[in-house]
Amino acid sequence: MREKIKKQLLHNLLLEVSKRYEYIMAQNARIFEETNYKAIHDELTGLYNRFYFIEQLKKSLLSAERHKKYGAVLFIDLDNFKVINDATGHKAGDLLLKMIAKKLKSALREEDVLARFGGDEFVVLVENLGRDENRAVEILRGLADKLLASIGYGHIVDQKVYQVTASIGIALFNDATQDIDDILRYADSAMYEAKRKGKSQTIFFNPLIEERLQRRFVMETSIRQGIDEEEFFLVYQPQVEDGRVVGAEALIRWNNAEKGIIPPGEFIEFAEETRMIIPIGEWALHEACKTLKRWEKDPALKGLKLSINCSAIEFMEPGFDQKVMRILTHYGIGTGRLCFEITESLLMTHHASLTSVMRRLSDFGVKIALDDFGTGYSSLAYLKNFPIDILKIDRSFIEDIFFDRSDQTLVRAIVSVAEDFGMQVVAEGVESPEQEMTIHTIADHIIVQGYLYGKPLPLEAFEAAVKESV
Ligand code: C2E
Ligand code: CA
Ligand code: CA
Repeated sequence: MREKIKKQLLHNLLLEVSKRYEYIMAQNARIFEETNYKAIHDELTGLYNRFYFIEQLKKSLLSAERHKKYGAVLFIDLDNFKVINDATGHKAGDLLLKMIAKKLKSALREEDVLARFGGDEFVVLVENLGRDENRAVEILRGLADKLLASIGYGHIVDQKVYQVTASIGIALFNDATQDIDDILRYADSAMYEAKRKGKSQTIFFNPLIEERLQRRFVMETSIRQGIDEEEFFLVYQPQVEDGRVVGAEALIRWNNAEKGIIPPGEFIEFAEETRMIIPIGEWALHEACKTLKRWEKDPALKGLKLSINCSAIEFMEPGFDQKVMRILTHYGIGTGRLCFEITESLLMTHHASLTSVMRRLSDFGVKIALDDFGTGYSSLAYLKNFPIDILKIDRSFIEDIFFDRSDQTLVRAIVSVAEDFGMQVVAEGVESPEQEMTIHTIADHIIVQGYLYGKPLPLEAFEAAVKESV
């Protein structure tokens, strides 16, 4: 009897132990699964993460090589996410990312790998695109269109509809010797190219993009050096009103140790892309202030105004207005003497803080001119929303103004609206007396600028020319 009880007890004990064991094993398995899940998934969207994506890409390269079939990596980057995120807050931003993740997923096939690399950057791995490159490109183009369309629907967050667009860069592969990092970089730079070309589109990687990227890299390094070595300088072009020089536009030049003088057309765009334009612009502002102080001491130059060009990137950098005010205060530059020339593209960014930055600068006494006016898309009525003091009519309208009636009509219209809004008008690129005469028959009070009155000159030469002209 005792034996029987003992046996029963032992059996129960064993049962208990094995149950516990099972429980612990299940627990472990769950933890294992959870850590495993976390290791390869993006926490916010539940998509795969970079780690998993790269593992899959490695496998995919081998299989592409084996079957001689194309595969591709698509880099998808949202165009305006930052603006929406800043305007709505992170919570709404996160919600939007989740929605977009879902939309992308539903536009893809089960076997495609969709990952989020962080921020608003999504990546897709597509395999089995066949052996014909053209056909692969065709399929991918269709897929990219589908993805763009799926993102492009209005997304409702907090009862508001947000229109999101994206840029896609695609890199193809069919060779296991290709480097993973290279493929990712190619897709990334193609995406970057899509942004550069105006966003909301798809670009396939090609060697030209790589070349441009290389050039950008070299340019970035030499711009950095150029700043350190003080290779930049400003030249000054007169602005004339009623036959008198009333101011100047400062234009940047780069005296490169190897290449000699480089005009801005060859480096400003790169400087903007690499954001090097920010230190360059700050340097130019200091230079302009020093020049204005110098002119203050000279009775012949005292009243001159100075304009400097300012890229949208500089203008939209947080704290730009404070920086400008600090620098102007440091030099003691009085109201109305310094003018920033900005372009229409800046107004078209619809950046939330743009008007307030412009307003603060304007209240501080900085003048704002709209450069190259007429080449962008902003309507005259739209300008009313911004504190703009001066319209600079683009050179392309002045070029044929002597004989082209439609240019005359256009300039007349611009001048009349500008007058209504209380803005001054500058006609730029005036090269001949015929152009000048036509301009003056259209408008009495107009400032003119162009080779007819003087090419941009280094500071001393400009000053001498002004003194000679009076
Ligand atoms: P922009 O602001 O439209 O400057 C006017 C350009 O037209 C200048 O070229 C000037 O030299 C040229 N120009 C002036 N008068 C005439 C004329 O009668 N006929 C012709 N054919 N051209 C004339 P530049 O100096 O090569 O500058 C090109 C552009 O580079 C500028 O266009 C401006 O957008 C940018 N830039 C220049 N300096 C700076 C700077 O300091 N910062 C920034 N962000 N951009 C700058
Ligand atoms: Ca300008
Ligand atoms: Ca201009």
